[in-house]
Amino acid sequence: MTPADKKHNSSMNAFETVMLYFNRAADVLGLDDASRRLLITAKREIKVEVPVEMDDGRLETLMGFRVQHNNARGPMKGGLRYHPEVDSDEVLALASLMTWKTAVVNIPYGGAKGGIAVDPRSLSKKEKERITRKFVDQIHDIFGPDSDIPAPDMGTDAETMAWIRNQWEKYHGFNPACITGKPVEDYGAKGREEATGRGVGILCFKLLSRLGMRANETRAVIQGFGNVGKHAAKYMYESDYKIVGINDISGGYHNPDGLDIPAALHYVIENNSLEGFEKISTATKVDNKDFLELDCDLLVPAAIGGVITAGNVDRIKAKVIVEGANGPIDADADEVLHRRGVTVLPDILANAGGVTVSYFEWVQNRQYYSWDLNRVRQELEAVLSSAFEEVWQASTEHEVSLRTAAFMIAIKRVKRSLDLSGF
Ligand code: NAD
Repeated sequence: MTPADKKHNSSMNAFETVMLYFNRAADVLGLDDASRRLLITAKREIKVEVPVEMDDGRLETLMGFRVQHNNARGPMKGGLRYHPEVDSDEVLALASLMTWKTAVVNIPYGGAKGGIAVDPRSLSKKEKERITRKFVDQIHDIFGPDSDIPAPDMGTDAETMAWIRNQWEKYHGFNPACITGKPVEDYGAKGREEATGRGVGILCFKLLSRLGMRANETRAVIQGFGNVGKHAAKYMYESDYKIVGINDISGGYHNPDGLDIPAALHYVIENNSLEGFEKISTATKVDNKDFLELDCDLLVPAAIGGVITAGNVDRIKAKVIVEGANGPIDADADEVLHRRGVTVLPDILANAGGVTVSYFEWVQNRQYYSWDLNRVRQELEAVLSSAFEEVWQASTEHEVSLRTAAFMIAIKRVKRSLDLSGF
């Protein structure tokens, strides 16, 4: 889930939440109403039918979406998700978040997002491939390396990207830069898979240093042990953090003296889940409903959206929260945390490592050249470190939260491009 998924457990829908954060930053910047309207309005919103024959011969008609939010700073960039709850409101909110995310890390992209309203778990591989190719048939004209570059998101992966590239190239010819998140052996980038979690780890380190907290004295709790959580845990463990709690959909695993993260990483490779991890380790099992309330210094929600709400915020003990997931904190809870002095590193910066390495993939594709893993890691660290420093400075200078500071920087950059080039 993402902010968009909060529509079910928050009074605010996804787009309203993004708008609240946008307007808070726009107020500090003194942005006039006309500029606000220009910046929030999506450039193009597309909704297409995706008729497809299922394996049993049934005809299904699905709905596909692509919202191209803003291209003032470059081609638009954003994932494609397959999820039953994908709708126009969700895609619009996520597309606008991509505009602010690419701007805050200062990569030359705008924002977009798309998806198909379908449960990918209910599909055979062949059905998923047919749906994907049919969707590309409907939208191939509006995306490409210089206009709008899709990427994986929930329910889609490197294989889906390979189908999309193949179908798009049937119309437009060879050009692997039309999409990112491809398989590494097929024009993908080394280090793309670990990038979001690694970025979360890098940014935790930067933030803690600024707050005068040492990694080896910091007790961290990480929610979610999928792509983001797992790689964040690996990086943080190797950087000497004491990780006292991890969880996934199967439950939470806790050890106040620190968990054996290499064993947990090995366990999920073998078992596809943390289920039963307490039996082979020194961890004790914790119910997921109590997990976020574990005693810790740093909390990294890296699973789904809307998990810290007005209902549980008063029981959260962490002094620092780094948003690995998109929108894990509801707007109401965000306000309470801010008042309580809890430092929150917002999703638009905290989980931007993935889109940053997607950008590196696109750069490599355009150069017909492949970087080694070390170069990817170094460049990722450089991009995230400088974005962090800018956000930290703006937050200190304007006495605003890191979230408002991140939105302010992003809005200023997009506005400047519009002012320079026109619209
Ligand atoms: P994933 O599907 O690989 O992993 C999700 C993890 O969360 C799994 O371990 C799952 O068991 C766990 N989980 C699901 N529901 C849970 C619950 N109710 N309680 C506890 N754990 C639960 O997903 P991911 O790619 O790691 O993405 C996680 C979040 O990060 C999402 O919000 C996603 O939008 C965001 N994000 C991901 C990327 C990326 O590159 N993967 C980039 C930016 C943002």
